[in-house]
Amino acid sequence: MSKTYLLLGADIGDKRTTFAKAKQLIGESVGRIIRESSLYESAAWGFKNDTTFLNQVLEVETSLSPLDLLDGLQKIENELGRTRSGNGYESRLIDIDILFYDDLVTNTSELTVPHPHLHKRMFTLAPLSELALNYIHPVLHKSVSRLKAECTDRGVVRKING
Ligand code: AMP
Repeated sequence: MSKTYLLLGADIGDKRTTFAKAKQLIGESVGRIIRESSLYESAAWGFKNDTTFLNQVLEVETSLSPLDLLDGLQKIENELGRTRSGNGYESRLIDIDILFYDDLVTNTSELTVPHPHLHKRMFTLAPLSELALNYIHPVLHKSVSRLKAECTDRGVVRKING
């Protein structure tokens, strides 16, 4: 069994309902959700948009290999109706990113783990730090706690539940 941290993100549609469906599908086809962070709301990052993003991090135990995990998550994204324009950032119904997978370090055309932007974005570090404060980033060799303290992202990230 491997432990992975996943980031859910959505900025259009009924975001909470989409998250609920995504978590159900993750439980059915990807692995067991051990813990989940609070929900966080943030301004759109990286492209101009007046919508807000909803984000949440999940700690998941999985028997899938990293590539099978990615494949399983992409199937869930597709099932939940995501469209890809191929133009980089875009509004989406659901985006599921692999942040960490045990201590794996990989960088191929299909999959980069740890996620390359994890340490740059407060909307990732805020929920991740609830679940993995002392987890050591296997490339940067710093704890999530330290990455959060050193993060220069000044985007507003608001915790919206417990
Ligand atoms: P995006 O449109 O931002 O969700 O990017 C999706 C693409 O990123 C997919 O084609 C994946 O192959 C690739 N990718 C690379 N590393 C990761 C990762 N850690 N988690 C999710 N997708 C990844």
